[in-house]
Amino acid sequence: MAQILDGLKVSKEIKAEIKADVEKIIASGKRAPHLAAILVGNNGASETYVASKIKDCKEVGFTSSLYRFSSTASEAEVLEKIAELNVDPEVDGFIVQLPLPKQMDQEKVIMAINSHKDVDGFHPENFGRMALEMDTFLPATPFGILTLLERYNIETKGKHCVIIGRSRIVGRPMSILMGRKDFPGNSTVTLTHSYTPHIEEFTKNADIVITALGDPHFLKGEMIKDGAVVIDVGITRVEDNTEKGYHLAGDVDFDSCAEKASWITPVPGGVGPMTRAMLMKNTLLAYKHTIYKD
Ligand code: NAP
Repeated sequence: MAQILDGLKVSKEIKAEIKADVEKIIASGKRAPHLAAILVGNNGASETYVASKIKDCKEVGFTSSLYRFSSTASEAEVLEKIAELNVDPEVDGFIVQLPLPKQMDQEKVIMAINSHKDVDGFHPENFGRMALEMDTFLPATPFGILTLLERYNIETKGKHCVIIGRSRIVGRPMSILMGRKDFPGNSTVTLTHSYTPHIEEFTKNADIVITALGDPHFLKGEMIKDGAVVIDVGITRVEDNTEKGYHLAGDVDFDSCAEKASWITPVPGGVGPMTRAMLMKNTLLAYKHTIYKD
């Protein structure tokens, strides 16, 4: 039976470490780190994500601000706010919650963010720095997975890591990071996607499987080998008859995979809380000018 990679527990440790750091900063007479968020429209999931980010800021002692725009706002209005935040000395980092309404060019908006304040790590400069193994703001979900592997001291060197999904925010950066010359890393990586035929031929040979496709219970126990490490990024709302009307499901069929895996992340309580904690970590790095020494 697999052991649990407890993302909830580790995320609490990380947030406690950040909070202790912030308390020292404040005691030395300096201001608290500040995260700003831009939210366009009223997408339910985006509202929830932004609300949790603001709650996390409070928990670790950061200040935060939220700039809301209606779903019919123009791209120019959002770009104007970005230009302001880019140079505001009181704002250490900021995020533009995705997705954006269709009248906006997502790439143009991301490109407009000052890379030194890009705590989501989505700006091409930061993505490029990641690919070149330079210090950078790592995207929060891959950063969370790396930190989880690190804290549990999971061996990744020389292992075969199969990643399912090649999104810009999870699968693709994860494939780069697992292949880097570092710990965690030094894995041989296979990046699979919807055009990969017979995916089980890859997953069956994997020492580490990372699922980020958004298909509930996709990875079954029969698709992995004994002793594999299984990391489940997926979060899909599945409707049910509960009061809430839905539950969250991962991409991994937990019960059958847990019988064979050595380590496994649960959903919820695995990668999700780690992602949240790493945004706080990136904001602290921005505040301290750890990545860019400006
Ligand atoms: P995404 O943009 O939705 O893309 C999904 C990826 O999975 C694509 O690359 C797609 O391939 C691939 N895919 C889809 N069906 C597949 C199949 N049957 N076999 C192999 N590959 C398949 O991905 P995302 O934004 O990374 O989200 C993935 C999941 O992670 C979602 O459930 C999302 O809610 C969750 N998520 C969780 C966190 C967290 O903090 N835990 C953070 C971000 C996302 P193509 O490229 O060929 O289309």
